[in-house]
Amino acid sequence: MLVIDGLAKQYPTGDRALKGVSLTVPKGQIMALIGPSGAGKSTLIRCVNRLVEPTSGRVTIDGQEITRLSRRGLRQARRRMGMIFQEFALVERLTVMENVLSGRLGYVGFWRSWLRRFPAADVAAAFTLLERVGLAGFEDKRADALSGGQRQRVGIARALLQNPTLLLVDEPTASLDPKTSRQIMRLLRELCRERGLAAIINIHDVALAQMFAERIVGLKSGEIVYDGPADGLSAEV
Ligand code: ADP
Ligand code: ADP
Repeated sequence: MLVIDGLAKQYPTGDRALKGVSLTVPKGQIMALIGPSGAGKSTLIRCVNRLVEPTSGRVTIDGQEITRLSRRGLRQARRRMGMIFQEFALVERLTVMENVLSGRLGYVGFWRSWLRRFPAADVAAAFTLLERVGLAGFEDKRADALSGGQRQRVGIARALLQNPTLLLVDEPTASLDPKTSRQIMRLLRELCRERGLAAIINIHDVALAQMFAERIVGLKSGEIVYDGPADGLSAEV
């Protein structure tokens, strides 16, 4: 379970991106964050794994206070949080398999030779995941040879290889066409259900959000303006 309590972020530029946001995401719940550009959605997601350091407030996952962890503790805690990005954040020169395995190393730099020394169990798990996301046979293709939808599938497999309990998903379809967007959202929903994963997904498109999520939280100017079931959302936001 994820508990966010009084989370605030003021950037050095003076922008107050979050003004004391509190919310709880139970185990296994799929939640979409919607709101206009600049509402603070990305900042909120990034504060959960401290890619952005909050100014004040607390983030707790399964009882562990993320906002108090040392660098080292944070590195371990991040293994339980899968992150999926808008621009996929793949390493272009590396193969699909290498990109998926790189998730095991966290967000630090890594070397190709190191990737080759991965435990066989990790490699086997990566093969299984690639098959599950529809990329069987693509293992040795270079990332820069893939379509947008395929790239996001690699991003999803990379995030899941860590066996996270929580997925943080930042605009996963922003670079994709509508049909591919729906396929990606459907895949994400299925995977979350299969694995009992909680997810926070930041998404512009309200129809896609409703398709994916059980719960929708609307953010505006750094504050929650809506919180309710996805199908209860009408003209309120
Ligand atoms: P959203 O994801 O809803 O579009 P963001 O979290 O990206 O919103 O941005 C919220 C506010 O914080 C905006 O005013 C934005 O300009 C500001 N902001 C975001 N990132 C930074 C940053 N790195 N430095 C300064 N201001 C930022
Ligand atoms: P989004 O709305 O999807 O968050 P943006 O285009 O607002 O995307 O932000 C892209 C990147 O620029 C993010 O990493 C964000 O943190 C950063 N950023 C956004 N606003 C500002 C700002 N006012 N000053 C500095 N960096 C910013």
